[in-house]
Amino acid sequence: MSILSDIIEHNQAFVEAKAYEQFKTTKFPDKKMVILTCMDTRLTELLPKAMNLRNGDAKIIKNAGAIVSHPFGSIMRSIIVAVYELNAKEVFVVGHYECGMTGLNAKDVLNKARSRGVTSELIDTLQNAGINLDGFLTGFDYVHDGVVNSVKLIRNHPLLPKDLPVHGLIIHPETGRLDIISNGYEAIG
Ligand SMILES: [Zn+2]
Repeated sequence: MSILSDIIEHNQAFVEAKAYEQFKTTKFPDKKMVILTCMDTRLTELLPKAMNLRNGDAKIIKNAGAIVSHPFGSIMRSIIVAVYELNAKEVFVVGHYECGMTGLNAKDVLNKARSRGVTSELIDTLQNAGINLDGFLTGFDYVHDGVVNSVKLIRNHPLLPKDLPVHGLIIHPETGRLDIISNGYEAIG
């Protein structure tokens, strides 16, 4: 059995049993919030439970490290859409301790790519074309820095309103404990 066939088999039973009914909601977040967090598997169910979120409560955007790496990239676009099109009134950046993006370095990633058949020549070609692979494949030294940087980029974004609270938090991936790094209400004072 492949992962795909397992999923499809489960899915047919899920739909048939109408197991979806308990999840019915709308596209608008009931708690009027958007969360940017990490794709870490430990957070899949833990984060919503630890933040008291049910299906339909929040827009949740995920990537590796909860990092906003570009002011006009897909993460910022998602936040802008959540605010203007989906009525999100507050933004929460939620990093986590023991994040895999801590200390990630481009050299290690590129070595693994080489071992899977990506040639050094190709990597050189990309770099010579001006693609900054070091920056692209680097995380942060401390999760605190990652959260602070993402919060700063969102707060200062020219297309977002100045009165939008943007909070920075770090969640513990085992206990779900949340530490406030930056209080968005205080920042808009
Ligand atoms: Zn992470």
